[in-house]
Amino acid sequence: MRAALFLTPTMPTVALTTLGCKLNFAETSTIGKQFLDRGYSVVRFGDQADVTVINTCSVTGRADRECRQLIRRARRIAPNGTVIVTGCYAQLDPETVASIDGVDYVLGTQEKFSVFRHTGSPTRQEITRVIVSPAGAVDDFGPAYSTEAGNRTRAFLKVQDGCDFHCTFCTIPRARGGSRSQSIDACLQQASELVGRGYREIVLTGVNVGDYGRKDGGLLVLLRELVQIRGMERLRISSIEPNLLTDPLIEFIAAEDVMCKHVHVPLQSGSDTVLHAMRRRYTREHYAGRMRSVREKIKGCGIGIDVIVGFPGEGEREFEETHRFLEDLPLTYLHVFTYSERPETPAASFAGRVSPAERARRSEVLRQLGMKKKKAFQETLVGMTLPVLVEAEEGEGCRCGFTGNYVRVALPAESAEGNSIVDVAITGVDGDRCTGVIMGGKSG
Ligand code: SF4
Repeated sequence: MRAALFLTPTMPTVALTTLGCKLNFAETSTIGKQFLDRGYSVVRFGDQADVTVINTCSVTGRADRECRQLIRRARRIAPNGTVIVTGCYAQLDPETVASIDGVDYVLGTQEKFSVFRHTGSPTRQEITRVIVSPAGAVDDFGPAYSTEAGNRTRAFLKVQDGCDFHCTFCTIPRARGGSRSQSIDACLQQASELVGRGYREIVLTGVNVGDYGRKDGGLLVLLRELVQIRGMERLRISSIEPNLLTDPLIEFIAAEDVMCKHVHVPLQSGSDTVLHAMRRRYTREHYAGRMRSVREKIKGCGIGIDVIVGFPGEGEREFEETHRFLEDLPLTYLHVFTYSERPETPAASFAGRVSPAERARRSEVLRQLGMKKKKAFQETLVGMTLPVLVEAEEGEGCRCGFTGNYVRVALPAESAEGNSIVDVAITGVDGDRCTGVIMGGKSG
């Protein structure tokens, strides 16, 4: 028995886990491919693995805490396995990550794209090895795309990385370097490959997607090419800064069938005083103008907004300005972030700190508003027939999917086939999603 094991060595295993944004998830897929190419098989995080890779995030203090918990968990699951920690938290605070018991390698943002070049063959280390390029030197473009849980419904294609905007609360320019884009040819080639493999929707991701190809004609040039790919059914922009959401771009989204009628536009604050302190590149008036243009030009558009509460200097008056401003916007869902001080950002030393209790209260007020707005939008859809991209995963007797304008719809499981785009009659609203039945199909 023992001899047989020697004759047929088992494949080494790797488990990968990710925190943070879709971009980070896309990059974890690229890390996974490096292991597959070396003969590893990928197991779930939570299973014993020879190597565990944790791709971290550092957007808030909470994200940092979660990273530390994951590292400890990985060590408990595989006491003799090798642990590699990479991503934004590893880039920004490698010493803290290295000091956590059981970490073998700390790889920076740039190093995650060539794990084996930096680690040789990853093994347990007596002393943690830290391989992190200085922040100013992070300038490679690591190509990446990821898919959701192995199904062929949506693929997230990384077209841009880094940011030049330097908002005062944000660590991203330090963690990911300056703004850079993948060439149009490379984007087209990857997108064609994904379409050829059967993906129905491609979501363009990046740190600042609207900044794509600034020196090269911009995002619109890329979109014009992408929509022409034969077989491309849906194309979505994950998020776009308000100062980059131009009228020609809005008109293009409105006119092109392939483009999802959905924009996600970070606001962060509805107070000009706070926007200025954040070093955002627009005023509330400009933002309101962009929203008017979207509403006028893109019929039924889904509009997602990010807002931060509790930024230093956000008094009751500034918060109320934000609250009222959001009430008047045609938003269809709202992501509320509670401000948290990030080390080495200008805002961390600003006066006018808001107490944690007040930050929590303001978050709750805006969350309630977000839910109200979302429900109101969902209700306007009842009675309409909309195309829904049905996901492969099934759960609790139903299958879910998204409309082009980013509303989640639940369908009776037996009526819907995964990874198909079907016309759905919206019948009601149930919690945070709509319900519907397939037109001309079986209904449950
Ligand atoms: S636009 Fe501002 S918040 Fe967004 S990544 Fe760039 S610096 Fe950070």
